[in-house]
Amino acid sequence: MNELVTCRDVARTYGRGVGAVVAVHGVTCALGAGDQVAITGPSGSGKTTLLHLLARLDSPTSGTITWPGLDGRIGVVFQGPSLVPSLDVVENVALPLVIAGLREPEARQQALIALATIDLADLAESLPEELSGGQAQRVAVARVLASSPRLIIADEPTAQLDSAMAIRVIDLLVGVATRLNAALAIATHDPEVAARLPENWTMRDGALAC
Ligand code: ADP
Ligand code: MG
Repeated sequence: MNELVTCRDVARTYGRGVGAVVAVHGVTCALGAGDQVAITGPSGSGKTTLLHLLARLDSPTSGTITWPGLDGRIGVVFQGPSLVPSLDVVENVALPLVIAGLREPEARQQALIALATIDLADLAESLPEELSGGQAQRVAVARVLASSPRLIIADEPTAQLDSAMAIRVIDLLVGVATRLNAALAIATHDPEVAARLPENWTMRDGALAC
Protein backbone atom coordinates (compact mmCIF):
# COMPACT_ATOMS: atom_id res chain seq x y z
CA MET A 1 0.00 0.00 0.00
CA ASN A 2 1.20 3.51 -0.70
CA GLU A 3 -0.84 5.16 2.03
CA LEU A 4 0.30 8.59 3.12
CA VAL A 5 -2.03 8.99 6.07
CA THR A 6 -4.29 6.54 7.90
CA CYS A 7 -6.80 7.15 10.69
CA ARG A 8 -8.04 4.34 12.87
CA ASP A 9 -11.06 5.00 15.09
CA VAL A 10 -9.96 8.58 15.57
CA ALA A 11 -11.74 10.97 17.91
CA ARG A 12 -11.11 14.56 18.94
CA THR A 13 -12.96 16.02 21.90
CA TYR A 14 -12.60 19.66 22.86
CA GLY A 15 -12.74 20.42 26.58
CA ARG A 16 -13.78 17.98 29.29
CA GLY A 17 -16.66 17.10 31.57
CA VAL A 18 -20.14 18.45 30.94
CA GLY A 19 -18.81 21.10 28.52
CA ALA A 20 -16.94 18.62 26.32
CA VAL A 21 -17.62 18.77 22.58
CA VAL A 22 -17.02 15.62 20.56
CA ALA A 23 -15.98 17.22 17.26
CA VAL A 24 -14.86 14.02 15.52
CA HIS A 25 -15.41 10.38 16.48
CA GLY A 26 -15.04 6.90 15.04
CA VAL A 27 -13.20 8.07 11.94
CA THR A 28 -11.33 5.38 10.05
CA CYS A 29 -9.95 6.45 6.70
CA ALA A 30 -6.84 6.52 4.55
CA LEU A 31 -5.39 8.66 1.80
CA GLY A 32 -2.76 7.48 -0.64
CA ALA A 33 -0.77 9.03 -3.46
CA GLY A 34 -3.10 10.31 -6.14
CA ASP A 35 -6.24 10.24 -4.01
CA GLN A 36 -8.33 13.41 -4.42
CA VAL A 37 -11.19 13.77 -1.97
CA ALA A 38 -13.77 16.45 -1.25
CA ILE A 39 -15.02 16.41 2.34
CA THR A 40 -18.52 17.83 2.54
CA GLY A 41 -21.01 18.16 5.37
CA PRO A 42 -22.85 20.88 7.26
CA SER A 43 -21.16 23.54 9.33
CA GLY A 44 -20.07 22.07 12.68
CA SER A 45 -19.89 18.50 11.35
CA GLY A 46 -16.16 18.22 12.10
CA LYS A 47 -14.51 18.93 8.73
CA THR A 48 -11.97 21.44 10.02
CA THR A 49 -11.14 19.29 13.02
CA LEU A 50 -10.53 16.25 10.81
CA LEU A 51 -8.40 18.24 8.36
CA HIS A 52 -6.27 19.64 11.19
CA LEU A 53 -5.72 16.10 12.45
CA LEU A 54 -4.74 14.88 8.95
CA ALA A 55 -2.40 17.87 8.56
CA ARG A 56 -0.72 17.19 11.91
CA LEU A 57 -1.83 20.55 13.25
CA ASP A 58 -3.71 18.80 16.08
CA SER A 59 -3.67 15.43 17.86
CA PRO A 60 -6.55 13.01 18.42
CA THR A 61 -7.86 12.44 21.92
CA SER A 62 -8.26 8.75 21.04
CA GLY A 63 -7.49 6.43 18.15
CA THR A 64 -4.38 6.54 15.99
CA ILE A 65 -3.20 8.49 12.99
CA THR A 66 -0.09 7.45 11.11
CA TRP A 67 1.73 8.98 8.15
CA PRO A 68 3.50 5.88 6.80
CA GLY A 69 4.78 7.06 3.45
CA LEU A 70 5.17 10.68 4.35
CA ASP A 71 8.70 11.87 4.70
CA GLY A 72 8.30 15.49 3.90
CA ARG A 73 6.05 18.43 4.14
CA ILE A 74 2.29 18.65 4.26
CA GLY A 75 0.87 21.53 2.22
CA VAL A 76 -2.06 23.44 3.71
CA VAL A 77 -4.42 25.99 2.16
CA PHE A 78 -6.68 27.85 4.58
CA GLN A 79 -10.05 29.50 4.07
CA GLY A 80 -9.06 33.09 4.68
CA PRO A 81 -6.04 35.31 4.17
CA SER A 82 -2.85 33.45 5.03
CA LEU A 83 -0.12 35.51 3.36
CA VAL A 84 2.26 37.54 5.51
CA PRO A 85 1.24 41.16 4.76
CA SER A 86 4.75 42.63 4.93
CA LEU A 87 6.27 40.14 2.47
CA ASP A 88 5.76 40.27 -1.29
CA VAL A 89 4.32 37.30 -3.16
CA VAL A 90 7.61 35.59 -4.00
CA GLU A 91 8.82 35.99 -0.41
CA ASN A 92 5.55 34.51 0.85
CA VAL A 93 5.87 31.52 -1.45
CA ALA A 94 9.53 31.06 -0.45
CA LEU A 95 8.89 31.40 3.30
CA PRO A 96 8.08 27.74 4.12
CA LEU A 97 11.19 26.67 2.22
CA VAL A 98 13.37 29.11 4.18
CA ILE A 99 11.79 27.89 7.41
CA ALA A 100 12.57 24.33 6.31
CA GLY A 101 16.23 25.27 6.00
CA LEU A 102 16.72 26.15 2.33
CA ARG A 103 19.03 29.07 1.63
CA GLU A 104 17.23 32.19 0.55
CA PRO A 105 18.41 32.38 -3.09
CA GLU A 106 17.39 28.75 -3.71
CA ALA A 107 14.08 29.21 -1.93
CA ARG A 108 13.38 32.30 -4.02
CA GLN A 109 14.26 30.43 -7.21
CA GLN A 110 11.94 27.56 -6.30
CA ALA A 111 9.19 30.04 -5.43
CA LEU A 112 9.54 31.79 -8.79
CA ILE A 113 9.32 28.45 -10.60
CA ALA A 114 6.14 27.56 -8.69
CA LEU A 115 4.60 30.95 -9.49
CA ALA A 116 5.52 30.64 -13.17
CA THR A 117 4.13 27.10 -13.32
CA ILE A 118 0.69 28.37 -12.43
CA ASP A 119 0.92 31.60 -14.43
CA LEU A 120 1.42 33.93 -11.49
CA ALA A 121 4.92 35.16 -12.32
CA ASP A 122 3.71 38.70 -12.91
CA LEU A 123 2.45 38.92 -9.32
CA ALA A 124 5.85 38.00 -7.84
CA GLU A 125 6.58 41.45 -6.51
CA SER A 126 3.06 42.38 -5.44
CA LEU A 127 2.15 42.77 -1.80
CA PRO A 128 -0.77 40.72 -0.41
CA GLU A 129 -2.86 43.91 0.01
CA GLU A 130 -2.66 44.44 -3.76
CA LEU A 131 -4.18 41.03 -4.56
CA SER A 132 -7.80 40.08 -5.11
CA GLY A 133 -9.16 37.22 -2.98
CA GLY A 134 -8.81 34.83 -5.91
CA GLN A 135 -5.22 35.90 -6.60
CA ALA A 136 -4.33 35.47 -2.92
CA GLN A 137 -5.71 31.92 -2.89
CA ARG A 138 -3.83 31.09 -6.10
CA VAL A 139 -0.65 32.37 -4.45
CA ALA A 140 -1.45 30.10 -1.48
CA VAL A 141 -1.64 27.21 -3.97
CA ALA A 142 1.74 28.26 -5.43
CA ARG A 143 3.15 28.23 -1.90
CA VAL A 144 1.97 24.62 -1.56
CA LEU A 145 3.41 23.67 -4.95
CA ALA A 146 6.81 25.23 -4.15
CA SER A 147 7.42 22.84 -1.28
CA SER A 148 6.35 19.71 -3.24
CA PRO A 149 4.27 18.11 -0.48
CA ARG A 150 2.96 14.53 -0.72
CA LEU A 151 -0.19 15.45 1.21
CA ILE A 152 -2.26 18.59 0.51
CA ILE A 153 -5.00 19.72 2.88
CA ALA A 154 -7.33 22.60 2.01
CA ASP A 155 -10.04 23.84 4.39
CA GLU A 156 -12.81 25.60 2.44
CA PRO A 157 -10.24 27.34 0.25
CA THR A 158 -12.91 28.90 -1.95
CA ALA A 159 -15.43 29.98 0.69
CA GLN A 160 -14.71 33.66 0.08
CA LEU A 161 -14.62 33.52 -3.73
CA ASP A 162 -17.27 33.85 -6.41
CA SER A 163 -18.18 30.60 -8.12
CA ALA A 164 -16.11 31.12 -11.28
CA MET A 165 -12.98 31.89 -9.25
CA ALA A 166 -13.78 29.02 -6.87
CA ILE A 167 -13.72 26.55 -9.74
CA ARG A 168 -10.50 28.06 -11.03
CA VAL A 169 -8.78 27.69 -7.64
CA ILE A 170 -10.05 24.12 -7.19
CA ASP A 171 -8.93 23.08 -10.66
CA LEU A 172 -5.53 24.60 -9.89
CA LEU A 173 -5.28 22.64 -6.63
CA VAL A 174 -6.31 19.44 -8.38
CA GLY A 175 -3.74 20.13 -11.11
CA VAL A 176 -0.99 20.71 -8.55
CA ALA A 177 -1.91 17.53 -6.63
CA THR A 178 -1.91 15.56 -9.88
CA ARG A 179 1.45 17.02 -10.91
CA LEU A 180 2.96 16.06 -7.53
CA ASN A 181 1.09 12.72 -7.30
CA ALA A 182 0.10 13.94 -3.85
CA ALA A 183 -2.97 13.03 -1.82
CA LEU A 184 -5.47 15.89 -1.73
CA ALA A 185 -8.32 16.52 0.72
CA ILE A 186 -10.50 19.63 0.35
CA ALA A 187 -13.30 20.53 2.74
CA THR A 188 -16.12 22.40 1.03
CA HIS A 189 -19.74 23.42 1.40
CA ASP A 190 -20.10 23.91 -2.30
CA PRO A 191 -21.52 20.99 -4.34
CA GLU A 192 -19.99 22.45 -7.51
CA VAL A 193 -16.56 22.31 -5.90
CA ALA A 194 -17.11 18.79 -4.56
CA ALA A 195 -18.11 17.67 -8.06
CA ARG A 196 -14.62 18.60 -9.35
CA LEU A 197 -13.04 15.90 -7.15
CA PRO A 198 -13.20 12.22 -8.07
CA GLU A 199 -14.01 11.09 -4.52
CA ASN A 200 -16.42 12.62 -1.97
CA TRP A 201 -16.59 11.92 1.76
CA THR A 202 -19.48 13.28 3.82
CA MET A 203 -19.24 14.21 7.49
CA ARG A 204 -22.24 14.25 9.79
CA ASP A 205 -22.13 14.99 13.52
CA GLY A 206 -18.39 14.30 13.69
CA ALA A 207 -18.42 10.99 11.83
CA LEU A 208 -17.76 10.02 8.24
CA ALA A 209 -21.02 8.91 6.68
CA CYS A 210 -20.35 6.31 4.03
P1 ADP B 1 -16.80 22.22 10.45
O1 ADP B 1 -15.44 22.56 9.94
O2 ADP B 1 -17.45 21.08 9.73
O3 ADP B 1 -17.69 23.41 10.53
P2 ADP B 1 -15.50 21.98 13.05
O4 ADP B 1 -14.48 20.88 13.01
O5 ADP B 1 -15.02 23.38 12.98
O6 ADP B 1 -16.62 21.67 11.95
O7 ADP B 1 -16.32 21.85 14.39
C1 ADP B 1 -16.86 20.61 14.86
C2 ADP B 1 -17.47 20.84 16.24
O8 ADP B 1 -16.43 21.14 17.17
C3 ADP B 1 -18.45 22.00 16.30
O9 ADP B 1 -19.45 21.66 17.22
C4 ADP B 1 -17.60 23.14 16.85
O10 ADP B 1 -18.38 24.07 17.53
C5 ADP B 1 -16.66 22.41 17.78
N1 ADP B 1 -15.34 23.06 17.90
C6 ADP B 1 -14.47 23.33 16.90
N2 ADP B 1 -13.35 23.89 17.38
C7 ADP B 1 -13.52 23.98 18.71
C8 ADP B 1 -12.69 24.46 19.80
N3 ADP B 1 -11.48 24.96 19.58
N4 ADP B 1 -13.21 24.39 21.05
C9 ADP B 1 -14.43 23.87 21.28
N5 ADP B 1 -15.24 23.38 20.32
C10 ADP B 1 -14.80 23.44 19.06
MG1 MG C 1 -14.68 24.30 9.08
